[in-house]
Amino acid sequence: MLHLILFGPPGSGKGTQAAKLVEKYNLAHISTGDLFRAEIQNKTPLGIKAMEFMSQGQLVPDQVTIEMLRNKVDSMTNVKGFIYDGFPRTTPQAQALDQMLKEKNESIAALIALHVDDDEIVRRILNRGLSSGRQDDSDESIIRNRMEEYRKKTSVVYDYYKAIHKSHTIDGFGSIDEIFENVTCLLDDIIVNL
Ligand code: AMP
Repeated sequence: MLHLILFGPPGSGKGTQAAKLVEKYNLAHISTGDLFRAEIQNKTPLGIKAMEFMSQGQLVPDQVTIEMLRNKVDSMTNVKGFIYDGFPRTTPQAQALDQMLKEKNESIAALIALHVDDDEIVRRILNRGLSSGRQDDSDESIIRNRMEEYRKKTSVVYDYYKAIHKSHTIDGFGSIDEIFENVTCLLDDIIVNL
């Protein structure tokens, strides 16, 4: 089973590329951000807790996030593999994911990071906020907090998988199709060598 992490700062295009990859490779897409937003919409206790952090542009605590991810993975049977989008975002999350996969005799095939510079990120997120209606996409100070959280807590996840030669970077600046072409080229190479 293929387990792929799509990585990068908020607004780097992970969700867009994940949707295209799901179609091409027939994988299940798990976005922890989408899962939290669904919980918020349904006004569940988990959603109410997550909202406290999301509305400030902060990461939701690891324990809550890991449990939600684990439940989602366990609920999806008959899939060829998973694309993790927006998870793991901290080293403890990466360790928990590895442990969870180990228990299933599985492992991460690769982490693919989309590289985009800061100004472009702010521009893209503000633009997305116009149509998404997401509060955390519409306020520049929340966006800057999210970028800061990424720098402080999430970027180390790249190094975590780099240490075991699983991290790869793709230029996330360009058209959606160009980036997709580069991601699939890399991914095909990874799959052949699994
Ligand atoms: P996203 O849609 O991936 O940009 O996520 C939106 C928000 O959800 C983030 O700013 C965090 O507050 C929260 N979130 C999503 N995924 C995670 C995660 N893996 N760990 C902690 N918080 C998360």
